[in-house]
This record gives sequence, structure tokens and C-alpha cells, in this order.
Amino acid sequence: MDSCNKLEQILTSRDWLLADGATGTNLFDMGLTSGEAPELWNELYPRRIARMYTLALEAGSDIFLTNSFGSNAARLRLHGSQHRARELSRLSAAIARDVADRYPRPIVVAGSVGPTGEIMSPLGSLTHELAVEIFHEQAEGLKEGGADVLWLETMSSIEELQAASDAFKLASMPWCGTMSFDTAGRTMMGVTAQSAMETVGQMPNMPVAFGANCGVGASDLMRTVLNFTSQGNAVPIIAKGNAGIPEYFDGHIRYSGTPELMADYAVLARDAGAKIIGGCCGTTPEHLARMRAALEERPRGERPTLEQIRNVLGEFSSVSDDHGKSREGPNRRNRRSKFNK
Ligand SMILES: [Zn+2]
Repeated sequence: MDSCNKLEQILTSRDWLLADGATGTNLFDMGLTSGEAPELWNELYPRRIARMYTLALEAGSDIFLTNSFGSNAARLRLHGSQHRARELSRLSAAIARDVADRYPRPIVVAGSVGPTGEIMSPLGSLTHELAVEIFHEQAEGLKEGGADVLWLETMSSIEELQAASDAFKLASMPWCGTMSFDTAGRTMMGVTAQSAMETVGQMPNMPVAFGANCGVGASDLMRTVLNFTSQGNAVPIIAKGNAGIPEYFDGHIRYSGTPELMADYAVLARDAGAKIIGGCCGTTPEHLARMRAALEERPRGERPTLEQIRNVLGEFSSVSDDHGKSREGPNRRNRRSKFNK
């Protein structure tokens, strides 16, 4: 099977795919301390990384993300390891490739790419050219390690999304993307689900699938999924919500979402039209196993309403998520329609 087309091939033959859960949460459980770069563990503790990957597959994941979220030069600079971006990315994917290839069913290795952590121009100082270079370096490492697809996640800026898309084209790699709509239904940079999908639909290098990850709890994420699918989506939808909301317990952070809640979320996400369904922060193998069982056992239902989502998963974090408003606000739309007449 041509590895470049692996995800697309599996997508056409399946009704839904189960992605994986959290990387950070599971690595903290294995002893990672905050302030430590998780990507350095690809070299220091490859067996622990292989174990984390294996646990996701044993729980039923069809796709899993490599331990390379912060493995770009901008993020690694904080740990004095900016020159190691390509090598640490390669290692994360090589360990993943090895785990996936031992597995009896087809598994997609998705090379995780997180944000640079810097603000792009014109608001910030990171230029498009430099951002492309940073993402390209990481993409080449993930490709060398054997990733089937690149997986851009937790993005909040359209400009950074576009830079990554250009970089992935340079690396000749298919990709998926998710943004984090964590601020009353918009990303931190003010992007709505609708404007994100519009941008993706016009990209010269379109992703294989696109959607949302992280954010604020499963209810909010489901509302975003409904927005993506309400007026036709350019590509298949990804839903990767957190396991509930973080809360302090006994001196550390844990997530409020039970495996039962995440099973309900997985079924609602499928019924709302998401094709790739997984978890984000707080999602453990136990959650994934329940999600897989629910997706297999429960028949497909009607597209859920906001009311149903609230009843099953809990209150939304904000009354509105500005669905229907464009990125620049309502004025742009009014101006445009005036000129179009
Ligand atoms: Zn998350």
C-alpha cells in the first residue's frame, strides 16, 4: 500500500476511524515532569514512548499521533535543543512506525506538528518564510521516520495554518489539521470554525481531513463539529475533544470526563458527521476503549441538536460561539454583499 495514500484509502472503506487520546496526560502518568520537553523522551526513553503508542492501539485506535508536538526549532529553543528538531521528529515517527508495523490491523502513523508558540506577522515577528522553514524541517524528520501523514494540531492562527500547509507541500506529505476553539467557540486568535473551513477549502494544498482538538470540554467541541458540518465541509471532519474539563485534585490536574461520557461524545460526534474521532487532554486508553466499544455497538442516530448535546455532555462554556459571523466580524459580510449587488 502506498503509504502516502494510506489514510485516504482507509477513510473510504470505513464509516469512522478512532484516533488516539492525550499525549501529555499519558506521559505525565509515566513520570514526565512539567518543564521537561516530552520530545527528548524519544531519545531518552524510547520504550516508554513505544508503550504509550501501544496502549492506544490496544485500546482500539486506528490512527495515533507521534510524540513530536513541540518538536520544532522554535519550541525546542526553550530547552536549548533547537538544532535537534529534525532528529527528534524522526525518532518519534521511527518508534511509531515500528509499533504500527507489528500490529495485525492497518494503522495510520500521524506525525504530530504543534504550533511554533510564536505570533506571526503582521501581529507578531514570525514571518511566513521562517514559519514555513520551521515546519518544513519538522515535516522532513517525520517523513524520514516513516509517518504516513502529518497531523497539525492545536492551531489558533490562520496564518500559521497556511505556513504549515505550504511546508507540508514542500515535504510532499499529505496532512490533517485541527484547530483549538477554546475561546467562546473561537480560537485564541479569533478564528471561527466556519472561517477556518472556508480557508481550508481554498488552500492549494488541502488537508485530507480537518477539524477541532482540545478546547473546552466535549460539549463545546461538539458544537464546533455541528458548525463544520452545517453548510457542507470541504474535507472529512476530525473531532478530538478533551476528556471533560481540568480540575485540581490532590495536588495535580485531572480531567472531569469519565470513560462513559467520552463514549457518549464519540457516538454524538459520529452522528454529527465527524469521520475521525478521538480525544485530547485527559483521554486515557481506558477512555479510548469505551469510545471504540460505543462506536461499534451503538447504531448511527440522527444528527444531534445543541439541546441533546447539552443534555448528554453538559453545559456549553459560552452562550454563543459566533457561528455565522465571519473572521473580521459582521461588517465585512455586509460590505461584500453591497458590492456584489
Ligand atoms: Zn488537549
